[in-house]
Parts: sequence; structure tokens; C-alpha cells
Amino acid sequence: MYMNFYLISLGCPKNLTDSEDFSAKLIATGSKMVFMPEEADTIIINTCGFLSSAIKEAKDNIKAALKLKQKGIVSRVAVTGCMVERLKEEVKKEFPNLDLIFSISAQESIEKIIKKQGEIIKPIQKTLHLPQYKMSLTLPHSAYLKVADGCDNRCAYCAIPYIRGKYRSKPIEEVMAEAKVMAKNGVKELSLIAQDTTSYGYDLYGKPQLIPLLKKLIKLKGIERLRLMYAYPHRVTKELAKLMAGEEKIIPYLDIPLQHISNNILKAMNRHATAEETKEVLAMLKDTVPGIAVRTNFIVGFPGESEKDFNELLAFVKSYGFDNMGVFEYFREQGTPAYSMKRQIPAAVKKERAEILNKAQSRVIDKINKNLIGQTLEVISDTTTLGRTYKDAPDIDGTVSFIKPVKAGQIFKAKIIKAKGYQRLVEPK
Ligand code: SF4
Repeated sequence: MYMNFYLISLGCPKNLTDSEDFSAKLIATGSKMVFMPEEADTIIINTCGFLSSAIKEAKDNIKAALKLKQKGIVSRVAVTGCMVERLKEEVKKEFPNLDLIFSISAQESIEKIIKKQGEIIKPIQKTLHLPQYKMSLTLPHSAYLKVADGCDNRCAYCAIPYIRGKYRSKPIEEVMAEAKVMAKNGVKELSLIAQDTTSYGYDLYGKPQLIPLLKKLIKLKGIERLRLMYAYPHRVTKELAKLMAGEEKIIPYLDIPLQHISNNILKAMNRHATAEETKEVLAMLKDTVPGIAVRTNFIVGFPGESEKDFNELLAFVKSYGFDNMGVFEYFREQGTPAYSMKRQIPAAVKKERAEILNKAQSRVIDKINKNLIGQTLEVISDTTTLGRTYKDAPDIDGTVSFIKPVKAGQIFKAKIIKAKGYQRLVEPK
């Protein structure tokens, strides 16, 4: 089976690693990935189905691909990913000219199904395993390592558990085998991802195994830096913080989506950490890990969010000083518990609260930047002119520009010269 395929990978890094795995399989079984849709026989779209904006983006891409098919430029269009898991019937109805709709679990046998017509929907797998072939769609020196999929946390606003199923960890020896291949392929910065990395292993080994996994990854030759993404607040332990503080290879950085800080809202969201526990964890991290950089996300406008709840969140953002922060307006997701909650917040109020919170955060960043100027930090060069400080994860956080060209894919020290928002100018040391 041979074909030229053009890939459109949408959504989060977890979806990207799925795209990497099935694309690697297609290439290993004789197909060719092309980088212009016009050169392709088949366009494969790996969709996100998390928020309405993501669903719109996926549909726009499907429309554009079907237009190329209509013009005879490509012969087939195939769609997979989270939107298929969630909205299969809607997709089929809206796009009857699609050649193939296949589920996330069907990606595993992509080489056998990609030329089929219609739909191939397989149940969510009970276990998660090492991909047969490995390739990277990210920069050669920085990649994502998905250690688990699915989620058991059941936050009231989130559709992920219904899309990706129960929490399934990859066996530790398989994660290590995957990381070894990535190290051999030149990866230096490995970002660990899952819906909740801090739960890694609890389903397979009876209790979380993130720390033993990190201790193994630290010993892996070639991998120079490990970055922790998607931590769940009350599973961030002192032991983990101590390991982060004691191991140079573990970047003093943590992505820890908090979603809110008012106990009233945290309870309604079915988040398992209270405001007090959250603040304790953040204080413990600051005390234990020198120079720790914290990224987080907040949702504003969750049903029942009063002015008082919002002001509590605003005060918290002003006082804590997050290095990177995302703000989302609550989106009413069908099929989630929050969908049928009373006291839904008007769109205009959600928008206003998001603006206020973002404004507060930009003032925080101005203050952080004032302190950063003149400081020397560790950076990683993503290209000869652009890179990131250790405080910045790929794709979602800030960037640095180098005052003179450097070698790409290197980790070194640089002095902050100028800073505006999340963009900084640095001088390599
Ligand atoms: S932790 Fe909550 S928000 Fe994150 S994937 Fe799980 S259910 Fe969704």
C-alpha cells in the first residue's frame, strides 16, 4: 500500500503524539508524508473535539480539504481524533463526501484501513502501549513523551473522559524504550505529557509512579532536560519537588492547571484540591525548588461564579505571580455535568472577566520582566534566532530572541537584555 499523505494535526500535544505515531506507521509501511496538500493523494485530519472553537477549526479544515478533493487535486480525505470520538454522527451528516472516518483506537492499524471507505470505529483500548514506530513532528531537539491517556478526575466541565476514556498508563519499560529511541533521534528536551502526568502508573502499579519514572529518565543518555506538563494540584508532592530541586536534568518548571481558586467553584467543578491545599502546594514548590517557574490555566464564568468568586481569583492571580498563564471562558460542553448546571453565566460577563484576568496577568508579567532584566537564565535555542528560557514550554509559553545567531538545539546560559510581555531579548553567555 503506497500513498502520498498530507497531515493536518490539530489540538493538544497529546493529539500531536498520536499523529506522530500513526504517521510513523504509514511511512514505515511504504507511504510518503508530503508537505503541500496539492502533492498528496490523501489528506488526513487529526481533529480536536475539546472546545467549540476547536470543533469549528476542525470543520473548517475538513471543508478546505473536501474543496481540494472536489477540484480533483486530492483523491481522498480521512478524519480521525477527538471530534470523531465525540461527534461522529454529526461529522458524517455534515460531510457525506468524506472517504474515511476512523476512531483514535483504529489509528493503530492505519496502514490496513487508510484506503478503506466509510467509518472504522473501534472501542477505546483498555491498555496503552509503545507505538510500533517513532517519528517526531516537533523540532528535532525537543519532543513530547505521552506517558498515559484518558482521565479519571472527572472535572465537571470536561469532555475528555468521555472522549479518551479511563486513565491508562504506558508500562514503564515501554515509556523508557520510547524515550531511548527519541534520545537516539537527537531529542534533548523531553516534555512529559498526559491528561494528568502526576497520576502516571497508579492504574498499572497501584500507586503513582511518576517519581520512579523520572529517576529512570534522568539516567538516559542524550536526554538533557525533562519538563513536566499537566500536573494535578494535590498530586504534586514534597517528594516530587525535592527530586526536581535535586536533579539538574529536571527543569524547575511545572505546568499545573488550577482552573480556579474559590472553594465554592472548585467544589462545583469537582476539582479534588481545595484553595488551601492548592496554595500550600504552590508555597511548597516555591520553598523547595529554587527558581521554579509555574504555568497554569484558569476558567472564568463557570456556572454559579459570583462576583465574589471571581474577585477571589483575580486577587490570587495578582498576588501569586505565575510565569505563564492561560485564561479560558467556560464553555458549556454537551454531555458534561456542568452543562445542566443552573446559574449559567452570560457570555458578555465571561468575556469581561477573561479580559480583566488577562490584564492583571500582563501587569504581573511586567513586574516579573523588571526583575528578569540583567539576569542570566538557562535557555534552549529552537532555531538560530529564537528559543525559550527554562520558564517556557514549547508552543504555549514565551520565547526569546538572540541578539546574535546561535546554533539551534543547544542548551546554554543567556542574559536577559530586554523584555516585553512573554517576549524577551537575550545575549548568549
Ligand atoms: S484533569 Fe479534569 S480537565 Fe484535565 S483531562 Fe481530566 S477531567 Fe479533563
